[in-house]
Amino acid sequence: MDTIQQRYQNIINALHQQAPSTRLLAVSKGQPVSKVRALYQAGQRAFGESYLREAQQKISECRDLTDIQWHYIGPLQRNKTRPIAELFDWVHSVDRPILIERLGSQRPAGLQPLNVLLQINVDNEQQKSGTGAEQIPSLAQTIGTFATLKLRGIMGIPKQQQTNTGQRDSFAALYAAYQQCLEVAPSTDTLSMGMSGDWQLAVQEGASMVRIGTALFGPRNQR
Ligand SMILES: *Cc1c(COP(=O)(O)O)cnc(C)c1O
Repeated sequence: MDTIQQRYQNIINALHQQAPSTRLLAVSKGQPVSKVRALYQAGQRAFGESYLREAQQKISECRDLTDIQWHYIGPLQRNKTRPIAELFDWVHSVDRPILIERLGSQRPAGLQPLNVLLQINVDNEQQKSGTGAEQIPSLAQTIGTFATLKLRGIMGIPKQQQTNTGQRDSFAALYAAYQQCLEVAPSTDTLSMGMSGDWQLAVQEGASMVRIGTALFGPRNQR
């Protein structure tokens, strides 16, 4: 039987074999709390969510899991930054100064700094969030003015390409952005790239965190 625990063990084993230091983010959007709990029981701690309302509900239902880590990976709108600054441990989709300013001032001082990744729109797709790599130094500088924020690196969602070579080029460009980030921010240690269909390639190109949803949990529910 193909259970969620078995899929988890298979992915963890494959990941550890290929890249022992690459971390797994379990993308739980569209999945029930019961599956989050099943993976938590199996040892997983980091979970990714894309829709604020769904995430708020889930986070409150998991209050008893005190060392669970929530990552916001969805598009960021300025009117939604406050609950994100209050509820999440990481945000992967920061791409402009106004979001940094709002998250930085809204992050409660009693909490650990909010871990921030800069989202790079690596294939210049109009419908996707993210900025160009040339913005990294100035965004890093703005983040540096807030003690409530910690810049951890780069996130990207490459376009689905026809060939592995094309896919690799996008991942390699994200790796170059990660190097640029490292140059301006010594706290950089995370390159978030790769999903269910392409995480092995992403790992080969230097991903330090892969974001896996359906390959782990099965198909998402309709929203
Ligand atoms: C949904 C989502 C994922 C996971 O996608 P799968 O194909 O189900 O693994 C990863 N990253 C982001 C930003 C997502 O929105």
